[in-house]
Amino acid sequence: MEIQVPSLLRIKPRALQKLGKYLRQEGFRKISLFWGGGIQEFFQETMEISFASAEIRVLYEEVVETNDIDNAFASAKKLPPESEVVVALGGGTVIDYCKYVAFLNQVPLLSVPTLISNDAFASPTSSLVVDGRRKTVKSTVPYGVIIDTETIRRAPRKFLYGGIGDLFCKTTAIYDWKLAYKNTGEVVNDFAATVCQNAADTFTFYENKNMDDLEYVRIIASSLLMTGIAMIIAGNSRPASGSEHLVSHAYDRVCDEPSLHGLQVGVASYAVSYLQKDTHERIRQDIISSGFADFMKETPLNRECFLRALFLAPDIKQGFFTILSERGNIEKLHDFVCTDELMNTMLG
Ligand SMILES: [Zn+2]
Repeated sequence: MEIQVPSLLRIKPRALQKLGKYLRQEGFRKISLFWGGGIQEFFQETMEISFASAEIRVLYEEVVETNDIDNAFASAKKLPPESEVVVALGGGTVIDYCKYVAFLNQVPLLSVPTLISNDAFASPTSSLVVDGRRKTVKSTVPYGVIIDTETIRRAPRKFLYGGIGDLFCKTTAIYDWKLAYKNTGEVVNDFAATVCQNAADTFTFYENKNMDDLEYVRIIASSLLMTGIAMIIAGNSRPASGSEHLVSHAYDRVCDEPSLHGLQVGVASYAVSYLQKDTHERIRQDIISSGFADFMKETPLNRECFLRALFLAPDIKQGFFTILSERGNIEKLHDFVCTDELMNTMLG
């Protein structure tokens, strides 16, 4: 089995300033540059200096404001044939968009997140809008991932809390994967499961959970990267996505104003861990020690939507066995969500 994983990795302070140098070291001279909406003014000067000093030519530039698949098709057609690499700079939208553009044109992608709110910056799929509905589509695996930890630290805190939510929830996702094996015989890729669990462990057992600490930011970013790699190894999203993701996807459907994906899966992970039992105390510690629970007190999810999402969640993905598939569990979970003190602080 041949597995394609990112080969260029830099996760460190001030990595953005060296972006031109990294490109040149890899032999790239001519690039297409895609900006996330609203970030160009903050990074334009840094990028110009970085590219000029490394003699990198920007052949094509575009600001990405949408994640509609039709726009991605149009952008793919506009890419100059001489363009050697696509560089995606910004948040999840531009990176998802560019993963698909690069996939269509079969050119390498450099993923350069300026904020981290989930594990998508290194995963092999994109979340795009297809015919008005959000869908997950196969995309390219980034050739490289460059993360400037100082830039990530400067972004609004909600994003990094989202990243944390999409990281500690891997513990409930992997539990569900193993439960599916016991109930349906679905194959568990042990290596992918281990990589993903190790990433969650690195976060859980890192003591100084202080967002001002660049090393902590590096731990979160590199662990999320590893969960993306676990999905590449598994060939599906199972290591990174279980019942907590079903609840979050259901919440997206019933709520007019959904929150960040990572915040939703984080809250849902705590909820479903109640049913899993083995994971409950650990997830409880994760959300308390990281400040996630306190943060959610200030930006709670909608209680009514969350309760409706619980009942919709088992039907979100056909043939996807999780703890929610067991008879009577939704009712038990509903009671827990309505009565647990910590849970209630995260729902408004
Ligand atoms: Zn996720």
